[in-house]
Amino acid sequence: MKILIVEDSRANLLVLSEYARDFGATVLPAENGENAVATFERDRPDMVLLDVVLPDIDGFEVARRVRALETPGDWTPIIFLSSLGADQDIEKGIAAGGDDYLHKPVSEIVLHAKIRAMQRIIQMRTSLVVLARKLDSANQELKRLSASDGLTGIANRRFFDEHISREWRRARRSASSVALMMCDVDHFKRYNDTYGHQAGDECLRQVATTIATNLERASDVAARYGGEEFAAVLPETPIGGALFVAEKIRHAIHALNIPHAGSPLGRVTLSIGIACMVPDIDNPYDELLSAADKALYHAKHTGRDRVCRFDKIPAN
Ligand code: GH3
Ligand code: MG
Ligand code: MG
Ligand code: MG
Repeated sequence: MKILIVEDSRANLLVLSEYARDFGATVLPAENGENAVATFERDRPDMVLLDVVLPDIDGFEVARRVRALETPGDWTPIIFLSSLGADQDIEKGIAAGGDDYLHKPVSEIVLHAKIRAMQRIIQMRTSLVVLARKLDSANQELKRLSASDGLTGIANRRFFDEHISREWRRARRSASSVALMMCDVDHFKRYNDTYGHQAGDECLRQVATTIATNLERASDVAARYGGEEFAAVLPETPIGGALFVAEKIRHAIHALNIPHAGSPLGRVTLSIGIACMVPDIDNPYDELLSAADKALYHAKHTGRDRVCRFDKIPAN
């Protein structure tokens, strides 16, 4: 352990240095304030013993500058050395960033005990910092897990609900549009019945990955909406753009070429409903959801394996 000892009395400095070395510490000596700050900055000691009265800047100023040099999260114990009867010095020293004090002359036993106590605090603090880091990364992992779907790894319904609500409000503020895509795997019940649930799960994983990888903008988000349904939010995308992306996804699902003997289409296919809206002053995003849902329903009822636009559904 490195101890910076700041003391302008050479005799005191020698005695304190000897005591510290007896403890097993490496001593960095400084006889004035400027020197002390420079040594601190260069050698980063583990502890500072700091005299109050120094020939240039006083110990309080040294403490303030040392604190300013510490990177956030760092902490070096500063122990003030005060003369007996100078209680105000102690109060000012603590206010300037000091952690403790010793009255001069300092005995070897007391100095060693103080160093030991400070070491204990440093150790406790270090384990707290390590613990806080672990907690932080555990929290991040928890956040990630609570937002993603366990089967497919893409965003889950909970994340989707929050996300679309956020995007809807943002679009309202900027008077821009939000496009929504609702996708549903065709004849998926029969797929499970034919190939088993595990194969069904694997199929859903592939479908989810294909949808997600075909959304190219950072602001586009795909989520598993439920069972074999997927939703994608495309902010600031006109209906023509959404149609383009939806067709790209539909073709990509075709290209996966997953056999589906139970489907008249012979392979796994996707029906997609799309809708695009600029939010009104007070309408909820449910209107967009319900429009995309109607378009999906229309896609199902006009043969599946197709993309339908809400604005192109014929009236009756
Ligand atoms: P349609 O073409 O009209 O969409 O027919 P469908 O059979 O896909 O629709 P339906 O809603 O009747 O069936 C959906 C099926 O999706 C029911 C269930 O067997 C299956 N499914 C839902 N979630 C999962 C899942 O997590 N894993 C698997 N393997 N199957 C699922
Ligand atoms: Mg002095
Ligand atoms: Mg369904
Ligand atoms: Mg389905």
